[in-house]
Amino acid sequence: MNVTVIGGGASGMMAALTAAENGAEVVILEAGTVPGKKILATGNGRCNLTNLALDPALYQGSCRRHASLLLREFGVQDTLDFFDSIGIPTVAAGSARGNDAWVYPSCKEAAAVRMALEMECERRGVRIRKESRVISLNKQSGRFLIGLENGSSAEADRVILTTGGKAFPKSGSDGSGYALAAAFGHQIVSPLPALGPVLSPNPYTKNLSGLRAEALLSLHVDGEETAQEYGEVQFTDYGLSGIPVFQLSGRIARELAADHGVTLVLDLLPDKTGEDIMMDLAGRRLRRRERESGTLLLGLVPSKMVPVLFQESGIPLHIPCREISQNGLVRLSEILTAFAFPVSGVKDFDACQVTSGGIPATEVSLNLESIKCRGLYFAGEILDLDGPCGGYNLQWAWTSGYAAGRAAGKFEE
Ligand SMILES: Cc1cc2nc3c(=O)[nH]c(=O)nc-3n(C[C@H](O)[C@H](O)[C@H](O)COP(=O)(O)OP(=O)(O)OC[C@H]3O[C@@H](n4cnc5c(N)ncnc54)[C@H](O)[C@@H]3O)c2cc1C
Repeated sequence: MNVTVIGGGASGMMAALTAAENGAEVVILEAGTVPGKKILATGNGRCNLTNLALDPALYQGSCRRHASLLLREFGVQDTLDFFDSIGIPTVAAGSARGNDAWVYPSCKEAAAVRMALEMECERRGVRIRKESRVISLNKQSGRFLIGLENGSSAEADRVILTTGGKAFPKSGSDGSGYALAAAFGHQIVSPLPALGPVLSPNPYTKNLSGLRAEALLSLHVDGEETAQEYGEVQFTDYGLSGIPVFQLSGRIARELAADHGVTLVLDLLPDKTGEDIMMDLAGRRLRRRERESGTLLLGLVPSKMVPVLFQESGIPLHIPCREISQNGLVRLSEILTAFAFPVSGVKDFDACQVTSGGIPATEVSLNLESIKCRGLYFAGEILDLDGPCGGYNLQWAWTSGYAAGRAAGKFEE
């Protein structure tokens, strides 16, 4: 009995390995020349492959219940054990913000993870057919017929579709899998870019372009605060970037798609109360009274930010500090704690790490088999599930790949 996995990414290789372990003869059809190409880009080339503090509630999308249940079958510890078993010991190392739950291979090389997966596929007898882009998939007389772009074809008893979403298309995931699923009557929850930078019409982002600043970000939807993230924000020509922005970008994409107004509000001094800030600013005005007003914030915020904050507060830049009005100080303290950036969009799929949307939970059983077509399974980002930064998305690739591979690889019935 034959299982064909369409798409040799993270979830595809895990699905293939598990199906082979369960006794199936397994072939991977991979469009590119290198299986798992996207893995090379993960975690800035270090591959953040899971998270010791993984909280299933942080996943977004309709397949959240599937994720919660399947993580009990193949969770974080199983992932660590699996990688150890294929010669990739892991280590929990802090992200830039000192979060020590993010797990990487001990060698900190994503290339090692990719290579070990490919070698393990070979060892377990999984055949990987590279440069084999699938362009058609249908089922006749109980067998799947698979058409390839290169003119050849293949047949399979079961198929696992692991073609990913639309994010980072240069790694091969261009969304072509959605059409293959749609041919069986599957609906697709609109794919939207997530874990990426956002666009803002606030002209100050251009002035601040290149600057990085620690901030507490609040997401306001139609004027109501709905979420917060802390971390290093990067200002760009077009808007805002950085991990805290990435973390909120999936929700932002969904809110904008639903025509809601979205604003990111930055608190540049989140550890201080408004009262502390006013006292500090008044003390600085006194201490630096004969100095230029621009020195007021020296040491408190990055210097590139000072002209912008002053312009926004209506404080002239070249007056002595003693001439800064009380109203000016009040306005300045307000902006330091609530600098608003309206958001007009999330950057396109080229700049985003994952796709929000995909095959909905209502169309897949708990073992990830299609309810439209028996013998067709899904795993990875093609399903309607996305997680935050920190190893959540690769964990879903391993978990869902394992579940689909196990179900598809068993032929006893
Ligand atoms: C820059 C970047 C950094 C990231 N960093 C992290 C991180 O550190 N931690 C984390 O958890 N997640 C990270 N992610 C997300 C994570 O990489 C993905 O969620 C995960 O790789 C998805 O796995 P997948 O198998 O579903 O899809 P992919 O890895 O996208 O694999 C899909 C495969 O299918 C192939 N394919 C597509 N269409 C066809 C077709 N028609 N026929 C045949 N083959 C086809 C593609 O060539 C590709 O190889 C990152 C993503 C990016 C872009």
